[in-house]
Amino acid sequence: MQPVQPGRMMDFPLTLTHFVERARTFFPKSELVSTLADKTQCRMTYGDFSSRVAKLAHALTTKLGVKPGDRVATLAFNHQPHVEAYFAIPCIGAVIHTLNLRLHPTELGYIAKHGEDVVVLCDEALLPLLEKFKNDVPSLRKVVVFSPDPQKKRTSPLPDGFLDYEELIAGEPDRFDWPALDENSAAMLCYTSGTTGNPKGVLYSHRSTVLHSLVTMARENMGVGGDDVVLPVVPMFHAAAWGIPFAAIACGAKMVFGGGHFDPVTLLDLMASERVTFSAGVPTIWIGILAALDAEPKRWDLSSMRTMVIGGSAAPPALIDGFATRYGLEVTHAWGMTETNPLGTLARVKPHLRSGSPEQLLAMRASQGFAVTFVEQRHTDETGRVLPWDGETMGELEVRGPWVAKSYFGDEGADRFTKDGWFKTGDVVTIDGEGYVRITDRSKDVVKSGGEWISSVQLENALMSHPAVLEAAVFAARHPKWDERPVAAVVLKPNRTCSEQDLAACLDGKFAKYWMPDKFLFVEQIPRTSTGKFLKSRLRELYGDVLVK
Ligand code: AMP
Repeated sequence: MQPVQPGRMMDFPLTLTHFVERARTFFPKSELVSTLADKTQCRMTYGDFSSRVAKLAHALTTKLGVKPGDRVATLAFNHQPHVEAYFAIPCIGAVIHTLNLRLHPTELGYIAKHGEDVVVLCDEALLPLLEKFKNDVPSLRKVVVFSPDPQKKRTSPLPDGFLDYEELIAGEPDRFDWPALDENSAAMLCYTSGTTGNPKGVLYSHRSTVLHSLVTMARENMGVGGDDVVLPVVPMFHAAAWGIPFAAIACGAKMVFGGGHFDPVTLLDLMASERVTFSAGVPTIWIGILAALDAEPKRWDLSSMRTMVIGGSAAPPALIDGFATRYGLEVTHAWGMTETNPLGTLARVKPHLRSGSPEQLLAMRASQGFAVTFVEQRHTDETGRVLPWDGETMGELEVRGPWVAKSYFGDEGADRFTKDGWFKTGDVVTIDGEGYVRITDRSKDVVKSGGEWISSVQLENALMSHPAVLEAAVFAARHPKWDERPVAAVVLKPNRTCSEQDLAACLDGKFAKYWMPDKFLFVEQIPRTSTGKFLKSRLRELYGDVLVK
């Protein structure tokens, strides 16, 4: 499209290079704190960080021959050197490809081959995993190994042919003459978790990532700012840790990383000792954290916490309410996808709705919220007809915006993109008159009983409000008459008991009779996807026939 009357403003590219140099210029004293395997911390400043980003950029280009457009993979937990890779790789014009270390080696091999990765930067603890798939990746030339402690010399030698990250960057210049990049250049490649079919690559651009960061910094959204202490619990291999490291570096926020530790006690220790103000992760993490707080309510001082973002799957209202009423902690519920860079919607209560009853306010906070600035939302039926925002009609959520994918890397999945420029999310939702989206299901997880849809998410939320229930996942079991019927898999809290009848009673009266699960299964653990979501396809494999006599 050509402008009728061109504006007279500079054509300044929206690239990540600006963020690195901004960090060096304005925030050299801000801190980055990484947790090591032995749970001690390694501390550096943004000054050190920006020098190390430049050093890595030199090493990649001169020693490893990485060219613009090449894909450089990471196989790593959350820590500062991983953030260095987040910037050095895109800023030389190459593409960082974050490999999800929780995937099966066959899948990792597929993804790394599909991405044609030329170099991989790997945590030492993950070398055995890399070993299992690296020979499936013909393009792979070099393996660089992050040091267990960036501030100490490696004690154990690396296998032949592997390079030590610290040795690689040592001695390189601490400034880099960054190339001028087009803002639409690819910056990062993330694959969907692909519970059905092969994972698909989503190629974020500098522009999409920069715009996403600006919105993440807006008070209206997550409001990440320079006075925050940010702990992304969401892994850096899951949709760029929801873009949080980019936003934090852009504004000079102190960053804290848990490394390979995801247990509630270590995370709570970190939150308390580093005075964390902002954290983000999937509900399963927060369910564990709330249970740890309930077990020892006085142990941690979390008074510094401003907000905790929960996303990746539906945050149960009982979880949001539990944090608020028992600990005065605020949860921000957000929805997004790998395909949306990833933030799409966020549950803010609009000012004119704040006088609602506590139940109404909780219902809004527990919804998926409404689209953040520059993302647009609608929902459609199977024929593509746009549906009314009446809070009742269910349809597939579609989104569009400057950080929403317009196609997949490799062009698979073309049917997810509509002719009129929207992305089909695969989430079944209602949208109310104020624009609040409520996910009733992932389309492949929906329970279709006698042709009627039953929302597993709503049933799960109700079950998780029962005081004895830690986690609940409702899935579609095969049924001879109704085709599918809901069955609930339930994990009880330690030392708590409850019967099938108790659970049925907790749902009674809240839903239509035909929504009532036909069975409640008490299980030790609910199987998870590689990104910590309930893996319903596995529940169906395990228990899909419990109703078939
Ligand atoms: P991923 O690409 O792995 O981040 O998965 C994206 C999917 O996770 C979405 O399409 C939703 O099905 C689900 N999801 C993400 N955030 C939420 C949320 N807040 N509530 C419910 N489902 C969510």
